[in-house]
Amino acid sequence: MKTRTLQTLRTITQIITLAAFMLLVIAGRSQLWLAVFAVFGIVLSLFAGRIYCGWICPMGTALRAETWIFKKLRIKRKTPKAAALKHYWFRILFLVGFLALLVPMMRSGDKQPVLLYLTGASVLVSLFFHEAVWHRVVCPFGTILSITSRISPRKMRVAKEQCIGCSKCEPVCPSMAISKEDQGKKREIIAHECFLCNNCREACPVAVIDWKNSKT
Ligand code: SF4
Ligand code: SF4
Repeated sequence: MKTRTLQTLRTITQIITLAAFMLLVIAGRSQLWLAVFAVFGIVLSLFAGRIYCGWICPMGTALRAETWIFKKLRIKRKTPKAAALKHYWFRILFLVGFLALLVPMMRSGDKQPVLLYLTGASVLVSLFFHEAVWHRVVCPFGTILSITSRISPRKMRVAKEQCIGCSKCEPVCPSMAISKEDQGKKREIIAHECFLCNNCREACPVAVIDWKNSKT
């Protein structure tokens, strides 16, 4: 399928899933979204990667819109160094903290729209920082999927032999998941941080990025 068509499909999916999430919030049933995350997040990530983050997550959708607005207004946010995004302990800490709040709340029957609060927090954090800070440091759902998606055989990959090292794919990645190989200019993708948003495929002038099985 053409990248442009995929982007349109992704936008439509994000609008529909965001509307579904808001309906659950209005009905006071937002915690049901955890079932959506379990199926379309965790289960899907085991064999197809983090489609949930790039196509379904309300936070991902809100941050996509926010980044689009910032780009239009040419406002720059603080971009962390790639190495700073690799400290896994912060992520685990945020995840444990989130679960320590969520589990007792659910057990007591408290119907606070925690996921809506979390979406608000993601927008707030991303007012100041590149959205990758939320996706790769703070978001508890992102942390879970960055673990489960590691076993997925299907990943976004750069065909290294054909990459011309132009770097056009790097700045369009919402997850800062694209970096230079250890030696040289060719790019590679950290697959377990990739949301399958297709921005890089759209930007690549020589079409060398593809979503493939590891054995192909
Ligand atoms: S690596 Fe490409 S497909 Fe994956 S999140 Fe970054 S831009 Fe999107
Ligand atoms: S845009 Fe394509 S050719 Fe350019 S660095 Fe990225 S993968 Fe390589």
